Amino acid sequence: MLMQRALLAASRRPGLRRVVVGTPATRHVVERFVAGETLADALTAVRALADDGIAVTLDHLGEDVTDRGEAKRTSDAYLAALEGLAGLGLGPAAEVSVKLSAFGQSLPDGGEDLALELVRPVVEAATALGTTVTLDMEDSTTVDSTLAVLAELRRDHPGTGAVLQAMLRRTEDDARALATAGSRVRLVKGAYREPPSAAFQDRREVDAAYARCLGVLMRGGGYPMVGSHDPVMVDLAQRLAAEYGRAADSWEVQMLYGIRPDEQRRLAAEGVRVRAYVPYGVDWYGYFMRRLAERPANLRFFLRSLATK
Ligand code: FAD
Repeated sequence: MLMQRALLAASRRPGLRRVVVGTPATRHVVERFVAGETLADALTAVRALADDGIAVTLDHLGEDVTDRGEAKRTSDAYLAALEGLAGLGLGPAAEVSVKLSAFGQSLPDGGEDLALELVRPVVEAATALGTTVTLDMEDSTTVDSTLAVLAELRRDHPGTGAVLQAMLRRTEDDARALATAGSRVRLVKGAYREPPSAAFQDRREVDAAYARCLGVLMRGGGYPMVGSHDPVMVDLAQRLAAEYGRAADSWEVQMLYGIRPDEQRRLAAEGVRVRAYVPYGVDWYGYFMRRLAERPANLRFFLRSLATK
């Protein structure tokens, strides 16, 4: 728990970022979680997953931009990604995930409007391609703003997806509000460090909240996306889908690239819809640190590889 807090705090410290990114051995570990630094690398990974019957959501790595120019570059990178995906002809089996902070959401004076303005062309391009965009969820201070942008986008593009974090105390209510026809919601446990006022701190409480929110989404009329590597949650999702008579194409399991790949293939072979979240790009530091914080085994793997290089 202490280590987890320290890693999550470190994920937002530029000084440490320089040390971690500059260590050659880090790259070897990063490759396990990140599909590569270029779009071409990402498209190679997408093709391989598609061959195994696994859909994808592509994430151009980056978050917390500091000016409008950077935000515009994020938008351009996603338009290029969608063009690349068009060439693969996978339709809705290849979508993109975006972090609004990379589109300028947190910039002072109109950041939210800027993010909406810059993400809209990405959503329009996705719709033209017959696919969707999902808005990742960042720390709890951004939830209201992200849900407001979602509501705007869903007016013209109802398939735009949201992410809800079970660890937040507010999420069961948000899940109820979003469990309506046509609404795509990825439920995750939550990857950010949050204060007790906003979030459950105990793992068991987070798991219980996840199960409750999953029940709400599975009972509702939307399209639940079960974003978890936890076998308990994946089993529960399968049981709830059966209990509520959900067709196999009315919900899906999502896992991160490089995490439990055998399980991703096994579920897909069993007829469960599976989607891998595939991050790519040079700005992998924040994403990588959150993966280390999530699981002692990931951290051990990293430390071992530093020691042997
Ligand atoms: P954990 O609670 O980490 O682990 C529970 C159990 O799962 C473990 O005890 C173990 O049995 C099993 N397990 C977990 N990892 C492994 C492994 N590597 N190998 C073997 N078994 C394992 N968070 C956000 O805050 N915002 C987002 O937008 C967001 N998007 C996400 C998208 C996807 C597709 C996924 C999968 C996660 C996303 N997350 C996001 C991260 C999420 O919030 C969690 O931090 C992360 O998924 C870890 O929680 P978990 O449910 O996978 O299981």
